Amino acid sequence: MAKRRRIYEGKDKILYEGPEPGTMVMSFKDDVTAHDGNRSGTITGKGVLSNRISEFIMMRLQDLGIPTHFVRRLNMREQLIREVEIIPLELVIRNTAAGEFAERFGIQPGTPMPRSIVEYYYKSSELGNPMVSEEHITAFGWAAPQDIDDMLALALRVNDFLSGLFVAAGLRLVDFRTEFGRMYEETGEMRVVLADEISPDTCRIWDVASNEPLDSDRFNLDLGRESEAYQEIARRLGILPEGGTNDIQGPEIVQ
Ligand code: C5P
Repeated sequence: MAKRRRIYEGKDKILYEGPEPGTMVMSFKDDVTAHDGNRSGTITGKGVLSNRISEFIMMRLQDLGIPTHFVRRLNMREQLIREVEIIPLELVIRNTAAGEFAERFGIQPGTPMPRSIVEYYYKSSELGNPMVSEEHITAFGWAAPQDIDDMLALALRVNDFLSGLFVAAGLRLVDFRTEFGRMYEETGEMRVVLADEISPDTCRIWDVASNEPLDSDRFNLDLGRESEAYQEIARRLGILPEGGTNDIQGPEIVQ
């Protein structure tokens, strides 16, 4: 394989320069870090399953007309994406109280929200991704009011679709994180598109009947059997990779 330039390495993904201008390759790792940052480890096969689950979700969203940066899956661990100008915000959509949010408002975990609640966080790991309001976003110029409207509308459409898709598979979409980017067409036109990934790394997904977490919270909460939980989500969505977790080695990457 030809040498390629590494653009960025995060906690669970690596971005490489893509084969054509305006593209990048997103590679999913098995590494996991607890949300408090105090513990890290690996979940065997996580990268393969997240790559496959995120591909499945992005393709279904595109079928609905929701614009995303996803182009196609390249192999077990990698997908080709369009290069976008990332908006430095995370939008978290909450359908059911869980985790720190439940503590913050003194709500019993598992309580459904009166309506889906959207929160904005400024993307800065040095600052610990602080929660921000539209006031901060526009005053500091992270996004324009129109960008905020577009992100909010897209995030809510994604939430409606995914909640239905998951519940049909016996899964509850408790909450999840989205990121967006600006994509510039050759005409110079700009549109806001869904970026990053949607997978059990970025969602809280519970079994509908038992409320058992089947996502990366299993690692945060030290519940164990993380690989099995990721496989269970893929199995229920009907997309367990051929060869299952025995087939988890992607092609070797040459720097
Ligand atoms: O920790 P918190 O309750 O704010 O997380 C809400 C949702 O956003 C969870 O599904 C979590 O997995 C996701 N999240 C994420 N990346 C972050 C923060 C939260 O994927 N940096």
